[in-house]
Amino acid sequence: MFGANPYKEAPQVAASLSPDYPQFTPVLLPEGSNAESAWIGEVQPFVSDEVARAFLRQIEKGSQIWVAAGRIRDEKPIRQSHWADPLLVGMNIRCRLLILIQPLPAHPRAYLLNPLFAEHYVATHPHPRFDQMISWDGKKVPGLCIYSASEFRYDPARERRSQFLEQVTLYIARHLIWLKTRRLCRGYPPHGVPLRPLMPGEILISDRPVQVQQAVAEGKPTWDYWAGYWPGPTAAAFNPETHLKKIKPHEECWCGSGVPYGSCHRPADVIQQNLSSR
Ligand SMILES: [Zn+2]
Repeated sequence: MFGANPYKEAPQVAASLSPDYPQFTPVLLPEGSNAESAWIGEVQPFVSDEVARAFLRQIEKGSQIWVAAGRIRDEKPIRQSHWADPLLVGMNIRCRLLILIQPLPAHPRAYLLNPLFAEHYVATHPHPRFDQMISWDGKKVPGLCIYSASEFRYDPARERRSQFLEQVTLYIARHLIWLKTRRLCRGYPPHGVPLRPLMPGEILISDRPVQVQQAVAEGKPTWDYWAGYWPGPTAAAFNPETHLKKIKPHEECWCGSGVPYGSCHRPADVIQQNLSSR
């Protein structure tokens, strides 16, 4: 007869992830996941290097950016030069994503499968979700920190998954800029000293951090690692202080649980802030 089916029940899956993102198709849930459904599809934020360069300026200015079906809209040609322009070549990268729909009210989770968001980015990248790590194809893949309640709020009048996928596309766009603007740094992230930049179009064989000196006493080890430029208003790392300042208790928590801040991470943030202000 047949072998035991590891998937006890076929998940009840909607016909599409979002009407605005028909390129996503359902897949089996990764092992150990408590998601309701899993979807794979591609986004390609930039159709050309020019679109990437225009996006960089817009995001730095804080202008509204238009996204449709995982693509950023082309804007009028740019005039002033930007230090990152020469590095932003080969930007028309198609990015393969895994989206895990969580039981409501939690937000979906997003994973970048290709180009792979590597496990070691939890140490060198500004916006990973190491608490949302999954196993995929024998590799550990951290989640992407898409949602920041202090920067973005869902429009209740619009379909939520479409808005989430727009945010994913904007994250991927910034991530591609981060990848292309990386510098080899020595020290402990994020405080290493730059040794050399990535050359335009240079492909790294490995971007895994390399330890060059062990930690001494209470200090941190010294690594050689690659880290880039993360453009736009989420550039600052958030901490309990900024969360407490920016998110009201009745508003959604920053963590993506979909629960009000006051009954989710706020009590822990208050404790942390009290500890660090001592
Ligand atoms: Zn929370």
